[in-house]
Amino acid sequence: MADVFTQAKRSEVMSRIRSRGNRDTELALAKLFRRHGITGWRRNQHVFGKPDFIFPKLHMAVFVDGCFWHACPKHATKPRNHAAFWRKKLAANQARDRKVNRTLRAADWRVVRIWEHELQKPTRCLARIRKALLQR
Ligand SMILES: [Zn+2]
Repeated sequence: MADVFTQAKRSEVMSRIRSRGNRDTELALAKLFRRHGITGWRRNQHVFGKPDFIFPKLHMAVFVDGCFWHACPKHATKPRNHAAFWRKKLAANQARDRKVNRTLRAADWRVVRIWEHELQKPTRCLARIRKALLQR
């Protein structure tokens, strides 16, 4: 089936989906933190790569990565319309993630990335975060 949107329009539509999706996953994690007494985090801080959360005292950054946008190995779908466009776009996203990790780690930040799908298993998510918080 042909895409009803032009490529530019599709890009715009998808970027709106992205920002909404991202907010939902961020809020889910924030809720989890609150419910389990994890404190010391901030959102919307100006740190390289725009982490979803930072723990400023620990110099720790947490990203919640959407399965589609960050090409999760389990759930990434490969859109068939404009396949080449999406392949390039998603590869660029992954490259950017790696660059953000490298840059933050080089600046002595701890970086934790949580997949959107991991939020379905909050206990495991929390265990990963807690472990990272305790690392020195
Ligand atoms: Zn996934």
